[in-house]
Amino acid sequence: MTITISSAFDAGNIRVVSQDGDRVDLEIVKDHMSDFYQWFHFRLAGAAGRDLTLRILNCAGSAYPHGWPDYRACLSLDREEWVRVADTSYADGILTVKLTPPTDCVWLAYFAPFSMERHHDLITAIAALDGVGYSSLGKSLDGQDIDCLTIGDGDLNAWLYARQHPGETMAEWWMEGALEKLCDPEDPVARVLRRECTFRVIPNMNPDGSRRGHLRTNAVGVNLNREWHAPSAEKSPEVLCVRNAMDKVGVDFAMDVHGDEAIPANFLAGFEGIPSITERQTRLFKLFSDTLERLSPDFQTAQGYEIPAPGQANMSMSTTQLAERFGCVSMTLEMPFKDNINLPDPVYGWSPQRSKYLASACLDALHAILPELKAERKSASRAA
Ligand code: ZN
Repeated sequence: MTITISSAFDAGNIRVVSQDGDRVDLEIVKDHMSDFYQWFHFRLAGAAGRDLTLRILNCAGSAYPHGWPDYRACLSLDREEWVRVADTSYADGILTVKLTPPTDCVWLAYFAPFSMERHHDLITAIAALDGVGYSSLGKSLDGQDIDCLTIGDGDLNAWLYARQHPGETMAEWWMEGALEKLCDPEDPVARVLRRECTFRVIPNMNPDGSRRGHLRTNAVGVNLNREWHAPSAEKSPEVLCVRNAMDKVGVDFAMDVHGDEAIPANFLAGFEGIPSITERQTRLFKLFSDTLERLSPDFQTAQGYEIPAPGQANMSMSTTQLAERFGCVSMTLEMPFKDNINLPDPVYGWSPQRSKYLASACLDALHAILPELKAERKSASRAA
């Protein structure tokens, strides 16, 4: 029987190079009009009971070659539960995945996918709840809406947004967890957050890249998280419409949710190195980070990105641009594609469910620092 591999569906990505019996050689396809690639997602059919060797040949040239050592591919038999393939290895630029599919249709991906169809299910379900507002902030280049949900009616303007980089699907699993908690009528933390804050939640900043099976860019190969200083209708309407909406109402607190290919841990990146950084911003960022570390064993502060020197921040990124523009507390949350090495799970690795728990812990941390955020916001406005 012939093995069939396909990726012509929502968020699919793979190219078959050759097939020799039970060995299939594959390549990941570059983002359209870009050199970035790392996201893969395909269906493998007609191989039940066969001892397969799948080889992704072009990993050395991918966006993050350090993402492959100690990485294990994700496998699903039902498109709901995604487990790790234990026999995944990386050497000489080639990722080798060995498996014996128990059934004739199995699915493989870089991380548990979050399809645009699931995105629409999420938006539709949450928008129907009492007290939730929906707005489309604008259109992507492929004509998809930039969906925004408004929750709560407090004074503090909190923005949560994810998937500027579409292949980082854990970011939208995080969003699903955040929205479920924020909309829970009985959750005491959510009740206080809804009273004190107005949340604007954008679960997917890059629907085009998501549907196209991209790693990092939109329909014209633009990395949206390098556009925040000068977004344009031609190249980055997704950022332009969100930044305009932020300019209208302001930002007190912002989280930009991502995944990191290489580092096996959850961590935050801040806004060190922006021109007008204040002691208040630095202190509140650290307070949030320390609080989250106490609340969640899946979060840590030892590993992360190198901190830029004073004045050396990259102002094209959302976190730095918002911190400078609004004097707010903004941050980039990074979750692993691999696992949290401090609390590993051999079956699932880092997973949708764990991303959702981390979202819940982030909201708990925000709740814990509300008094400081509020008090100092008042004194800041009095000073102005
Ligand atoms: Zn990212």
